[in-house]
Amino acid sequence: MTEPKAKPRSFPLGLDKISKAPTSTARQVLMPQRHLQQAAADAARQAAPSGLGLDSAQVRQRMVQRLRREGLNDERVLQAFAEVPRHEFVDTALAIQAYEDTSLPIGHGQTISKPSVVGRMLALLMMGAKAAEQGQLGRCLEIGTGCGYQAALLGDLSRQLVSIERLKPLHDKAIENLGKLRRQNIRLIYGDGRLGHVPNAPYDSIVAAAGGEDIPAAWLAQLAPGGRLVAPMAKPGGRTQVLVVVDHVLEAGVSRYMRTEHEGVLFVPLKSGVM
Ligand code: SAH
Repeated sequence: MTEPKAKPRSFPLGLDKISKAPTSTARQVLMPQRHLQQAAADAARQAAPSGLGLDSAQVRQRMVQRLRREGLNDERVLQAFAEVPRHEFVDTALAIQAYEDTSLPIGHGQTISKPSVVGRMLALLMMGAKAAEQGQLGRCLEIGTGCGYQAALLGDLSRQLVSIERLKPLHDKAIENLGKLRRQNIRLIYGDGRLGHVPNAPYDSIVAAAGGEDIPAAWLAQLAPGGRLVAPMAKPGGRTQVLVVVDHVLEAGVSRYMRTEHEGVLFVPLKSGVM
């Protein structure tokens, strides 16, 4: 393409010419801050997605439909996903990603698991003998509260939830996050979850959000007959993890623990002690 010949003009323009320039040009030349203002507005939109609060129920519904399409078929679990605002549990800068099927950082080197994995664990829990009979998780223990997102889902699905976290800042964050949702049946404990929580034992359902080399003896001791435990566990060698399900079966007064292994997963490590 050939450019139309520019009219000959003198350069630089005299001040008298600038003041007579058309308004739009003048604004562009004289308001360089416009770009900065635009960038600030874009950044603000990203940091706190406007409308996500208002539309979040719809965005969540789309996540629920996706989970359903991918095979999650427990209606109570899907209902819990539809109700709990995941974006309120993560940093505002990450809120925009909250309804994607992705794990997200929650600080202190920890992550909130992706919804499909959380859904799978909850569905496995709901299939425990006692849970299936009651249509809910009954008295439930969670190890690894993190930001409290899974705790909120568990709260919807159980009669009472005890959730333990070993990192104080995350325990405090979960108190704040869950406080906003006013869940009455959730008890948050700061401590080493490897020891379980004796005062509220036994539990019908136990779920761990961090994976160790073994299933701590305390968890089995605190699992009620008919109860089910779901936890990620390192395979021998420690390089890969699988979801492990343990059912407490009581037969003629004798306790048996039936263990099955499921798909490979990737969870943060289960650690000892508190920090
Ligand atoms: N369910 C959480 C995911 C948290 S990630 C959520 O929805 O956000 C796993 C959490 O387990 C981390 O916060 C980690 O600090 C915690 N954790 C690891 N070992 C633990 C232990 N022995 N006792 C309690 N919490 C533990």
